[in-house]
Amino acid sequence: MGNEVLLEVKNLKKYFRAKKGLFAPKSYVKAVDGVSFTINKGETLGLVGESGCGKTTTGRTIVKLYEPTAGKILYNGEDITNYDYNKVLPFRRKIQMIFQDPYASLDPRMTVGDIVGEAIDIHKLAKGKERTEKIQYLLRKVGLNSDHINRYPHEFSGGQRQRIGIARALAVEPECIICDEPISALDVSIQAQIVNMLEDLQRDLGLTYLFIAHDLSMVKHISNRVGVMYLGNLVEITNSNELYKNPLHPYTKALLSAIPIPDPDISASKKRIVLEGEIPSPIDPPPGCKFKGRCRYAKPICNEVDPELIEVEPRHFVACHLYS
Ligand code: SF4
Repeated sequence: MGNEVLLEVKNLKKYFRAKKGLFAPKSYVKAVDGVSFTINKGETLGLVGESGCGKTTTGRTIVKLYEPTAGKILYNGEDITNYDYNKVLPFRRKIQMIFQDPYASLDPRMTVGDIVGEAIDIHKLAKGKERTEKIQYLLRKVGLNSDHINRYPHEFSGGQRQRIGIARALAVEPECIICDEPISALDVSIQAQIVNMLEDLQRDLGLTYLFIAHDLSMVKHISNRVGVMYLGNLVEITNSNELYKNPLHPYTKALLSAIPIPDPDISASKKRIVLEGEIPSPIDPPPGCKFKGRCRYAKPICNEVDPELIEVEPRHFVACHLYS
């Protein structure tokens, strides 16, 4: 893993218009509300949070499936935020995405060969025999057989379908892959296989990953650094080991306390922090820290001022008034 930044998002925002009555005042779901981070070449950044925290919207906005409301996306130092379809096409090749539900993301009427080959055709990377050989190579690379090329998605298990989705992403020789909960829908026994395969591919092909998950146990193994999101904001980001050993934000502590530990002695002595209170609505949230209604440490300033993400220990950033 190098120190060269491949991907940078600066104060990224993505708001969606809330559906209300025809004559109601305009209001917005602030799905991503000012997120900044960098990912170095060859690094894996894990992005974690409960459903609705904005992690998937962040990933989709980076690959330009959504247009950002504000902020910047830089790839290799080049500002791609406002690129139109033609200008963004070369970057679509460099930044690929794999999805949570492999079955929904694969067209059931297409053969595996056509699914993997489609991107090769769009980017004019190979034709004829060379195209077929490339597809067969990719299938082997993700642990499938060359002769799976003529089969259809319904003939495969969930884990195999995720392998097809990964082969499709690899078909255009990307540098960076946004992995959007790629193992959440799979059996626990299959999850480790897919994570190990992604690590092998990263090592072989020099890939950079943004690995999105809803639970910290899923990203621990694969991530160099982990960012924790809450209601559209990054509340903590640091090295993976540091986060697990020394979590600082009250929300991160609660998430970590919910991870089951296989050792019964440790498990019995570990206290689970149960979060109380409702997650506030992301539609025009009130001022102050968005976590205040669920935080046992909240103090008056938390009602007024939204805490900024600041470096409180070397390379350990937290957004919480307990540390400012
Ligand atoms: Fe809790 Fe205040 Fe920190 Fe928010 S800023 S997490 S409410 S202590």
